[in-house]
Amino acid sequence: MLLSVKEPERTVDCVHETDLVVVGGSCTGVFAAVRAARLGARVAIIDKQNCFGGMATAGAVNIWHSLHDTEGQRPIIGGLTLEMVERLKKRDAVQDCSTVSAAFRMNTEELKIDLDEWVLGHGIVPFLNTYYCAPVLEDGRLTAVIVENKNGRKAIRARQFVDASGDGDLARDLGLPFELGPGLQPPTLCAKIFGLDALGDFDWQVAVQEHGHEFGLEKDWGWGSAIPGLPGMKLRADTHVFNTDASDAEQLTRAEIEGRRQVRAIMDVIRAYGPSDKRIALADLAAALGVRESRRFRMRYRLTGDDVLFGRPFDDAIANGSYRVDIHHADGPGVTFRYLDGTESVIRERGRSGEKGRWRDPLPEDPTFYQIPLRCLLQDRVANLALAGRMLDADPTAYSAARVMVNLNQTGEAAGVACALAIRNGGDVAASDAQAVRATLAEGGSIML
Ligand SMILES: Cc1cc2nc3c(=O)[nH]c(=O)nc-3n(C[C@H](O)[C@H](O)[C@H](O)COP(=O)(O)OP(=O)(O)OC[C@H]3O[C@@H](n4cnc5c(N)ncnc54)[C@H](O)[C@@H]3O)c2cc1C
Repeated sequence: MLLSVKEPERTVDCVHETDLVVVGGSCTGVFAAVRAARLGARVAIIDKQNCFGGMATAGAVNIWHSLHDTEGQRPIIGGLTLEMVERLKKRDAVQDCSTVSAAFRMNTEELKIDLDEWVLGHGIVPFLNTYYCAPVLEDGRLTAVIVENKNGRKAIRARQFVDASGDGDLARDLGLPFELGPGLQPPTLCAKIFGLDALGDFDWQVAVQEHGHEFGLEKDWGWGSAIPGLPGMKLRADTHVFNTDASDAEQLTRAEIEGRRQVRAIMDVIRAYGPSDKRIALADLAAALGVRESRRFRMRYRLTGDDVLFGRPFDDAIANGSYRVDIHHADGPGVTFRYLDGTESVIRERGRSGEKGRWRDPLPEDPTFYQIPLRCLLQDRVANLALAGRMLDADPTAYSAARVMVNLNQTGEAAGVACALAIRNGGDVAASDAQAVRATLAEGGSIML
């Protein structure tokens, strides 16, 4: 048995004092910070990576889904997502592709720089390569977070906090109740691969399906996307590390390594069985494992599958979405898609089309979008903390639709606005007036329905 060690008690320097600290700098976190800064709050943002953007940059996931309802007619998402798309267009870093499964393909290296510019341009104080470690409670109130970086262990004080860390590390440390599963969707290590389109008649997906076992691969499936401005390059998401809780450090380590092994094995199949005169090359491995699901926290309201699939309206809605329910099977290959029009599709293998069917009978009028209420981000135990991003309160079905970036970006914006209003009013985010949050979001360009 490993012995424990006693960490000596010490006083930690406070390196920064501000109105709002955002833990986690994905688009969710940056959008929270930007909205709060635009309302006059002083904001700091912390991320353990060397860049902002989270899954979209470090994870290399380069697709944003539709900003319209399922009919493609009514705009339902605006705000900072739309602003960022317009920024990326200036550098040809986004393609409007409007397919069923994607609306925008991005060059996420450009997105990194745009997020830097937004953070600095709004006077937000950035802490990159900085790990959030622990909360500080004084007289029972959250007053600071402890961080670690090249300068050692330091504290950052604030009045309000947003946990946008994906896994909800701050919320976990504060003892907020959460669930893991049942059946966590598996993580995927993404890769950028050059030359897949130039393999002629050779169907590499079928080859991987048939010969993968020779290289230690289970039967599986994956998807890919073009990258604007990089013909011949593909973003590929072909790996799955099943039965992984990526919020556990040891399992995360194992999954990062296993994901990279699977990328190599896929490429080795192509090298072994593909045309000898056509070469593929590994251009990039995502800097961070792509985590689909980990802790989901109990907040004031749990969004349900029926809320999503039947398009239930909420009077405190702060986000709208039209992306389908997208469940990567937890313990084996395959994905189930459920659509708001009652249809369903299940894909089990590479290179094969899905089995199509219905999950319910047709309705006289199908919903065309769903909503996420502010209540899914707020709780009553820690008055000055809001959650944003994929740790929001949703059941597994609702989660599988809510978890995409165009939806989560809006939760960030809502958390930032709610905190900024609390700071302005001298109150706490837990006591937010949902209608004031909605009105302020709308003033800032968000679509409130
Ligand atoms: C392989 C894959 C493909 C996907 N495909 C799509 C897609 O095509 N389109 C789509 O919209 N969505 C897709 N998703 C889902 C989507 O990418 C994620 O659900 C979403 O990005 C989660 O956003 P988030 O802000 O909650 O978390 P994240 O993007 O994970 O951001 C969390 C941030 O917090 C930081 N952080 C975490 N812990 C700490 C800490 N202790 N200290 C400091 N910083 C910390 C991280 O570095 C990160 O920047 C995909 C997901 C995966 C895994």
